[in-house]
Amino acid sequence: MIETIQVNTPDHAVMVDVTDVIARAIEKHEVRSGICVVYVPHTTAGIMVNEGADPAVMDDILAILEKLAPWRGGYRHTEGNSAAHMKAILIGGSKTIIIDGGRLMLGTWERIFLCEFDGPRTRKIRIKILSDERP
Ligand code: ZN
Repeated sequence: MIETIQVNTPDHAVMVDVTDVIARAIEKHEVRSGICVVYVPHTTAGIMVNEGADPAVMDDILAILEKLAPWRGGYRHTEGNSAAHMKAILIGGSKTIIIDGGRLMLGTWERIFLCEFDGPRTRKIRIKILSDERP
């Protein structure tokens, strides 16, 4: 089964916690055991699993990515968002997460983030849920 969710990102570069939305999609399909693939079908956004307890972590990650791929860098791409494409490559566009007991098996401090690098925009996230339970 596939779920598509939409997320309105509120800023130019921002990490949006989507853990609860993804957890609800899994609950809806009543999958107790399996995996889910979380995929963002955009070239200037990414999916990341990382610490959600201290918002300063997200600030630091965005700051480091900006050092690695500064917004103004004399790039050739005429759309003017090459830095966002580069950051999306560095973060990656999907994650696979184990489902057990009907819940995402994330670590204590882990959350799932949609990483926006060229917002604000409306973004889609595709969630493919695979159950390993026998019917
Ligand atoms: Zn572009």
